[in-house]
Amino acid sequence: MKRAIVVGGGISGLATACLLQEKAGEAGIDLEVILLEKEKRTGGKIWSIKEQGFLCEWGPNGFLDNKPQTLELCRRVGADSKLLRSNDNARKRFIFSEGVLHKLPENGPSFLSSKLISWPGKLRLAMEPLIPQYRSGEDESLAAFGRRRLGDEALRKLIAPMVSGIFAGDPETMSLKSCFPRIAELEAEYGGLIKAMIRLAKKKKQDIAEGKVVASAAGPGGVLTSFRGGIQDLTDILSERIGKGAITLDEQVERVEKGCSAPFRVCSDRGELDADLVILATPAYATAGMLQGLNPGLTSLLHEIPYATMTVVCFGYQRERISRDLDGFGYLIPKQEGKSILGTLWDSSIFENRAPEGHVLLRSMMGGACFPQYVTLPDEEVQKRVQADLKTIMGISEPPDFVRIFRHEKAIPQYTVGHAKRLAGLEEQVKAHPGLILTGNSYRGIGLNDCVAAAQRASDEAICHLQAR
Ligand SMILES: Cc1cc2nc3c(=O)[nH]c(=O)nc-3n(C[C@H](O)[C@H](O)[C@H](O)COP(=O)(O)OP(=O)(O)OC[C@H]3O[C@@H](n4cnc5c(N)ncnc54)[C@H](O)[C@@H]3O)c2cc1C
Repeated sequence: MKRAIVVGGGISGLATACLLQEKAGEAGIDLEVILLEKEKRTGGKIWSIKEQGFLCEWGPNGFLDNKPQTLELCRRVGADSKLLRSNDNARKRFIFSEGVLHKLPENGPSFLSSKLISWPGKLRLAMEPLIPQYRSGEDESLAAFGRRRLGDEALRKLIAPMVSGIFAGDPETMSLKSCFPRIAELEAEYGGLIKAMIRLAKKKKQDIAEGKVVASAAGPGGVLTSFRGGIQDLTDILSERIGKGAITLDEQVERVEKGCSAPFRVCSDRGELDADLVILATPAYATAGMLQGLNPGLTSLLHEIPYATMTVVCFGYQRERISRDLDGFGYLIPKQEGKSILGTLWDSSIFENRAPEGHVLLRSMMGGACFPQYVTLPDEEVQKRVQADLKTIMGISEPPDFVRIFRHEKAIPQYTVGHAKRLAGLEEQVKAHPGLILTGNSYRGIGLNDCVAAAQRASDEAICHLQAR
């Protein structure tokens, strides 16, 4: 019997281990899969905390259904009957700018009538088709791309808040190609974003006329999807499927070495295990530490992937104490507004059962790459700042009835300019160790869909490796 060790019990490690078990069975490979996790629970960044009738997500609150990966995994493990789609009004998103919450325009006419972007800003955006295509070949930052194609105001009020909403990132340092590869492709293919939108809309019309299947009515953004019990339902189901006997909790892997009787030896704070195959589904900085002895080159490349901090602040209120409508997803805030928070998700409006009857749950984010120091603020200061911001932005002057604060010192990996080159270097170095596979959110996408897609690739690669030996 061969042995594969998966390190890390977040969505990446769990999905990889589960797929690997199934694919090995299908391929007739006699394989023992062992998953080692340093914490006392599985889930990693996924953790749905239930207290006083509120359901607070420690990290992610869902995945988008416009990519197939997570939905397919749910089907495969029988989790699809528990899926919970976000409410329809969660499509409405807001940006707080110059003292006002502006609804994010969804189409041309609403963009023209919106006061979010000034007329000079709109004019600059309208000139986008005239901007020459980027041809330098150098990795470009999101800020440089935004300024060049869409203008300063669109960068400040649209792109930068989106980058902080997804990556908790700073657009001045983040790579367009690595964070939003499709946008870079659209410019390369069509010569610009507006040109691409027109051509793709025409193509869609033509496809419909020819009776071809087109993207679902969910539209380009997709529908945020979770589970009745919170997103943790997914990692709980995966853990169950893998089986208790195959998962060891509270075991921190310290080193991966060359083995004597097997290709690898995995050394942890509990002992040593030989393995034919090792899949590291841990954050880049943790993976770096494990590989120091095996390959210092890999370690130094992995250390080049920085992480942004994040403080997640959950406030619960009695519904009647909030005068404004909460008919939307929530809002993001451009940095120039000088607020402590990056934005607020109206969690109880997005998904039902996130707050007890007659109550609402708001989840604000603080920190990110632009404000790393906020993660060390004491609870009282965090609460004071969030209350002050909610008062200005949403007119909530009363203190919350329920408070939960979660800190992530290393929340989200930052795909900074040069990330693609770093990945190429990592791939080259990993080739020297057949049977060693790196996966997780540090490399090719941070969304849950990306992590599941990476798990698919990792499990396929593992099967190929085992079949070739
Ligand atoms: C606040 C926040 C909100 C987010 N919101 C969304 C969202 O709404 N939608 C979305 O798609 N994505 C979201 N994301 C991103 C998404 O949650 C992550 O990218 C994803 O969960 C990462 O999964 P992972 O398994 O790759 O890593 P992790 O979840 O970090 O798992 C890695 C695991 O490895 C373990 N580990 C580390 N070192 C060792 C060691 N030495 N030995 C053994 N085990 C070890 C850790 O304990 C952990 O369990 C959010 C992230 C954050 C932080």
